[in-house]
Parts: sequence; structure tokens; C-alpha cells
Amino acid sequence: QAVYRKDYKPPPYLIERVHLTFVLNEDSTRVLSRLSFKPNYDGEAPPPLPLDGRKDVKLVAVKVAGEALAADSYELTDKKLTLSGLPKGAFEVEIETEIKPQENTSLEGLYKSSGNFVTQCEAEGFRGITFFLDRPDVMAKYTTRVEAAKEPYPVLLSNGNLLDSGDLPDGRHFAVWEDPFPKPCYLFALVAGSLSLKEDTFTTRSGRSITLRIYAEAKDIDKVGHAMRSLQKAMKWDEDVFGLEYDLDLFNIVAVSDFNMGAMENKSLNIFNSRLVIASPATSSDLDFARVEGVVAHEYFHNWTGNRVTCRDWFQLTLKEGLTVFRDQEFSADMNSRAVKRIDDVTRLRTAQFAEDSGAMSHPIRPDKYIKMDNFYTLTVYEKGAEIVRMYNTLLGKEGFRKGMDLYFQRHDGQAVTCDDFRAAMADAKGRDLSAFAAWYGQAGTPQVTVAGEYDAAARTFTLSASQRTPPTPGQSDKAPVPIPIAVGLLGADGQELPLHLKGHENGAAPTTEVLLLEGAQQEFVFTEVSERPVPSLLRGFSAPVKLEVEGQDEEQLRFLLAHDSDPFCRWEAGQRLLRSLLMALYAAAADTAKGESVEERVAGAGGVPEALVGALRAVLDDPSLDGAFVAAAISLPSASELIDDIPGVDPVVLHDVRQYVARQLAEQLRPELEAAVKRTDSAPGEAYSPDAASAARRALKNRALYYLGELGDAEVGADLLRRTREATNMTDHIAALAALIDHPGAERDTALQEFYEAWKGEPLVLLKWIGIQAGAHVPGNLGAVKGLLGHPAFALSNPNMCYALFLSFLRSTPNFHAADGSGYAFLADSILQVDKVNRQVAARMTGSSAFTSVRKFDARRQGLMRAQLQRILAQDGLSENVYEIASSSLQE
Ligand code: ZN
Repeated sequence: QAVYRKDYKPPPYLIERVHLTFVLNEDSTRVLSRLSFKPNYDGEAPPPLPLDGRKDVKLVAVKVAGEALAADSYELTDKKLTLSGLPKGAFEVEIETEIKPQENTSLEGLYKSSGNFVTQCEAEGFRGITFFLDRPDVMAKYTTRVEAAKEPYPVLLSNGNLLDSGDLPDGRHFAVWEDPFPKPCYLFALVAGSLSLKEDTFTTRSGRSITLRIYAEAKDIDKVGHAMRSLQKAMKWDEDVFGLEYDLDLFNIVAVSDFNMGAMENKSLNIFNSRLVIASPATSSDLDFARVEGVVAHEYFHNWTGNRVTCRDWFQLTLKEGLTVFRDQEFSADMNSRAVKRIDDVTRLRTAQFAEDSGAMSHPIRPDKYIKMDNFYTLTVYEKGAEIVRMYNTLLGKEGFRKGMDLYFQRHDGQAVTCDDFRAAMADAKGRDLSAFAAWYGQAGTPQVTVAGEYDAAARTFTLSASQRTPPTPGQSDKAPVPIPIAVGLLGADGQELPLHLKGHENGAAPTTEVLLLEGAQQEFVFTEVSERPVPSLLRGFSAPVKLEVEGQDEEQLRFLLAHDSDPFCRWEAGQRLLRSLLMALYAAAADTAKGESVEERVAGAGGVPEALVGALRAVLDDPSLDGAFVAAAISLPSASELIDDIPGVDPVVLHDVRQYVARQLAEQLRPELEAAVKRTDSAPGEAYSPDAASAARRALKNRALYYLGELGDAEVGADLLRRTREATNMTDHIAALAALIDHPGAERDTALQEFYEAWKGEPLVLLKWIGIQAGAHVPGNLGAVKGLLGHPAFALSNPNMCYALFLSFLRSTPNFHAADGSGYAFLADSILQVDKVNRQVAARMTGSSAFTSVRKFDARRQGLMRAQLQRILAQDGLSENVYEIASSSLQE
């Protein structure tokens, strides 16, 4: 049942015009579809026309050229309606279907959320509405008529412009929408419901006034201001940076509470998971505010990168997603702190995408096959894809990249294209050969780069020798070299940047950062006129998505870079490298049971946390000139998932204990500085909340410091944290104090949880945080509490956000998820099977985000326990293809 990229064929027919009528009712919905087909085949004889469908779509009638079809001119199966005996030339097909959105819990196609009708068609949801050529290279103009009862569904929306609306008999009404831009059906959207609306405008650079509307449930409508401002900023930014202007007079965003993913870029009618629209200081954290800004921008940016130019087939998904993620990352960097944004993005990539790249579901950014496309909306396609786009930007420079984008739109506006078309536009704009980058699209796995530097004092040269290799991944054992831009600086003994003269690159200017391009397996780069032995600063800005090993880089050099590097990414990275090697060394000691009774004892015997490292972090913590969010990131420990790949047969609980030990040690040794940082950054009583970057940075530092202090577990800190949950004037501070208390031994924890619930029991979005914090608690034996939450009135299995908050948080609770008796694994498997009956996409995400996709990385005992659960999942009758694809790959690996 897999689909292969190599099998791509253009469709035998194209659709030029689509007329849809939705008759919405409580018991069932009628969909009338009138389609104008034109031939796209070679030769004379019209071939059969296979339309995609789903077995819950009931075919009521089908006509070709006005005639009802004879029974022998069509074939209907669970997944297809195939028409044959078709006329030559263009013809019309009329199809009537009946569907039951009110029973659709998969949230694909047309469904109901909080009593409203909404759609989600990407990737292949449209076939759940009517029979269609459900593929992105079929682009048509749509006219959509929606009819519904007026009282429960006063708002009727679809893509494009409102052509007509009015009343119908029996308390019903209608609206007709027309979208002038041809689009694939995955961008179709419909909303019918009772929604409140906030309206504003944006004036484009050419002077057109665009109406902006955000729809939400009445109780939330006063919390959409931040999303509206974010939209306006995004519209302005896309004009300023890429010269891209909005192309219709109306832009809608609708917030819905039941939504599988984050949001969807339907033409002029974006539909959002409400958690990415609704924001207020009292109910949302700084992180929420930043995500709303980023995702609103992301979906808006899709109007050009995704909608005006779309994908030829789903294998090309990174064409629109990698590019649009790159664009939203740049937008957020321009709106906030560029350095901190980059560090956050790299952290996410290394924590989650690297793990994906080395696990059972490892795939290139352009996959070669899939069973369910929905399983490939991954960190690899999105975030690694964005890194590939970023490499073009790094190599071509900002203007070169802009030229490439201009050429891309010049060539492909209105088309469905491939990743190769994008790369060709980038290459042609600057006359640069980028063909070697094709390897990044076809090859899975994270390249490992090794660099060694050698200084020749007599010749005054500094030579960097770089080599690369990519470890094998499932189904891809032989790897070729990929082109890797390595941004480099050299620091003198005083911490200043040395001017760079790269041999073969002399052009008069002596920059302080050079981009080396490692193309082969091994290559040397020589810097001349180097006046002293330098300390190299490598992979500046994380110029490529690789793992870097620097030969001969010792701790002293890392502390030096942490103190002096002008590149904020490398500065942070130096601290992370120090912490990573400490954690690795302590893990080795902790795992050696001959070295003492307890993990604590073995780790202490190995020397604990060295004073030099504490001193280096102290200097960062004490430097008031540094951005607070940068400091918070610099004192954070690398995630366990970053380390696991380098520890064969890891015992995850021992690794967790080692991380906790280091956190406690740092908290103890840095206590005065942490307390001083809290004092320095604490908000003044009555201070108004603002989500701006500077204020958020202060809170980030304060709350990171409080988290460390919470690790001390002492009574005084517990009382202070409880007080903070009570006095917090915003959700960022409230939730941070609660999180710092969650594993605290004192009674404050339960009091704070209880009070939080009482305060927010009417706000499901806020309760997601309450559920997540509890489900992720590390206290031993927390599984019982997690199971209890499943039965709590605040929890609903049918709501994706609730499932993610509960189950995905539980996966992060290492001691409980990885409990030695296998109870955590069994709970996950039970839950996957239970959720799969309701919502296959959510169940697949629970499977794919878990350690089940990287069984091989763990100790033998846990491997056995996990495999047993995977077998149990696969044995389930009626298992979805979504979960099957992930579970079977995981077991096979
Ligand atoms: Zn997207």
C-alpha cells in the first residue's frame, strides 16, 4: 500500500473549474460537485478516470456530460471511484455524495469542532468530502456555495471573495464564495458556525486596503489581538524582505479547538488550532506568544510559498514547508532576538530532528515512499528542510537569495513544481552551480563533520582539515558526501577576531567570518597571514545541519570561546560542548556499577562537576550585558536525546539521574548568582506584562534560575515558589513557578496544583499546561497519577491538544516512561490503541514521537520490552495505516 516517488505520473485529466454546494444538516451533509475536466493524456482514446474517495463517503449519484452513468461505466471501491467510457475532449462530471461530519472524529475532511463545521484537507482530506483527483498537481478555480440553518451557523465561509449570500426558507441561509486563484484541493476550506469576529485592516505597499478577520468562539475573541498584530507584521515583513504582497481583498483566520496539527494555510481562509491564535498575558506564556507570532506568519507566508507556487506531489512537501519554515524563522529573528531565535531553533533540531534522523523513521527531506503522507509532516521535512534553504541563503547571501526567490516566482507562479525547480531558480539567479545540493534531498541521516586545525608559525598559516561521513540509515547503507558550508572565524589570544585571508579566495577584503564549502569526503582550507596561533570558531550560526567534532579542542579553548566568541551561536555552543562532555563522562561512571553503590556515589567518585566549568557558567550568569534569554540557554543542559545517539545501549534512567545530579550541583554551587539573577530580573509589583523580546528575555532568565533553585528541594525555596504561583501577574511566571515545584518534595506542590485548577478550570487551553506539567513529572510512580488524569473532567480523548499534553508530556518523564518494569511502555501502547480508534493522526504522532521509533538505541532489557509492545500494537485488528507504518518500521529496524 506504499506510494513511491519514482512512480510519479501526471494525471490523465486536469480539472479547470470546480463548483461545490454543501447542504449542511445535523444528520448528514450533502455535497454536490460539478467538475470541468480537460484531457491531459496522450493519444486518442480517453483513458479511465480514477477519482480518490474514502469509504465513509457515500456516493449518491454521478453524471457525465449531464447523463446519469450506467452501472458498467463506473467502478466503486473503498478508496476509488473510477469512471470509464468517457467522451473525447473536455466534459463535465457531477457527483453527489453524503457524509457525516458530526461522526468524523479523525478531523480529516469535513468535521465538527465545538458545534462548528470545519475542514482540514491537507494532505488527503478532500477525498473524505467528495470523489476527486486529490493530488496537488491538479489546480482548479473553485466556487463554493454553503447552505445551513441560520441560527446555529450564522457564519458561512469558504475561500476567496463573497459573491452572494441571503436567506432561504425554513430558517436557513446561504453564502457563495469564489476563489479566483487556481488551487489544489488540499487548500480548500469551509467553515460554518457560530463564531465571533475581530476585524482590522492592512494597507499594502501598493495602497490596497485588505480586510483582516479573525474568528473565534465568543469567550476567546478578546484574546486575538496578538494574532492580529502578528498577521499585520508578517504582511509588512513579506513585502519588505521578499517584495511579496497579499493578492486578495480579504484574509481570514479561524480558531478551532479540535485540530490535529498547528494550523493550515487554506487560500484566504487559514484555519488554526486555537492554541496558536488565542493569547493573553493571564492565560498564555511568553512561549505561547512567540508561537502565535511565528505560526500566524508561517501560514500567511504560505500564500506565496505553497499556494501561489505549490508542490507537484507530496514527496516535494519540503518545497513549501522547508522554505516557509525558513521564512518564519527569519521573520521571528527580525521581530525578536536573532541570536536567541537561532539557538532555540538549533536546540529543537538537535533534540528532535537528529533523533528522527537516526531512528527507524529516518527519511530524507524529500522522502522516497510513504504509506500515509500524514506521517511525513516531520521535523525532517520541516526543520531540516529549512536548514537546507538556509544554506542557500548562506552561500548566495541575502540579495542572492532574494534574486533566487524572485526568479522562482517569475518562473513558477501558478504552478505545481518540485524541489529541483526551486534549487534551479536559486542556482540560476546567481549563476552558481548548486547541483551537488541534490544529495541533501535524497539522503537521510545527519552528516558528521570532523575538523582539525594546524598552525604553522613560520609560514603564518592556519590549516583546517575537514572531513565528513554520514552514518547508514534504514534502507540507505551507502552515503555520498554532501556540500557543507562551514562558517569560520579565528580568535586571537585577546579574544579579538583575526582578519581572514583564505587561500584561493583573496579579494582584498579581510572579513572576520568566511564560509568554507566542504564538498568532498575530505578537504583542506588554508588561511594565510595568521599572526598568532588562533582559536577557531567553527560552524558559526550553525551554518549546516551536521554534528561537528573538533579535534584537539580542549576545555580551555571552549571556556575561552564561551567567554569571547563574537558569534552568539558558537558562544552558546562552547558552553553546551563543555556540558555535553561532562555529562558523557559522568554517564560512563554512573553506568559502571563497580564504581559504587548509587548513581550519586559513582558520579561523585568521578569528580562531579568541575570548578572550572562552574566558574565559566558563573561568569555568564553574572554578565549583565548579556541578553537574559541567551543566559538562560547558556546555563541549560543539553537534552538527553542529544546525548543518547552517542551512548550505545543507553540506560535512559541512569542518564536522567546524571542530568539531575549535574543540575543540582550547579544549583548548589551557583546559588548566590542564581538568587541574584532572580532579584535583578524580578518584575516590579504591579508591572504590566508585555510580550516583547526584552521583557520575555528577563523572564526567561528569572525562570531558568528559579527552576535550578527548585532542584535544591529545600523548604525555603518551596515556600517561595508557592508564593510566586500566587502572586504571578502573568502565565509565564505562574507556570514557571509551578513547573519548578512539580518534583519538589514539599506539600506546596499539591497546593499549587489545586489552586491552579480552581483558578483555570473554565479555560481548556490553560488546563493543557496543568495536564502537561503533571504528566511530565519525574517523581517515581507518577504513572498512577497520569492514569488518573485520563478520567479527569478536564480531559477529553477526542481533543488532540489534550492527548498531546498528556501523552507526549508523559514520554518526557524518563523515569516513568522508561520504568524498568515496562509499565510506561505498556501504558503508551494501550493509549495508542485507544486513541487510534478515535483519531489515527494523533495516535500516529504518539507512536512517532516516542522512543518506540528508536528501540535499537536502548539497553537490551528495554529493547525487549518495547518490541513486545510494538508487536502488541501491530497485532491489533483494524489498526490504522498511520500507526501501522510507524510501528512496523520501528519493529523492523
Ligand atoms: Zn507549513
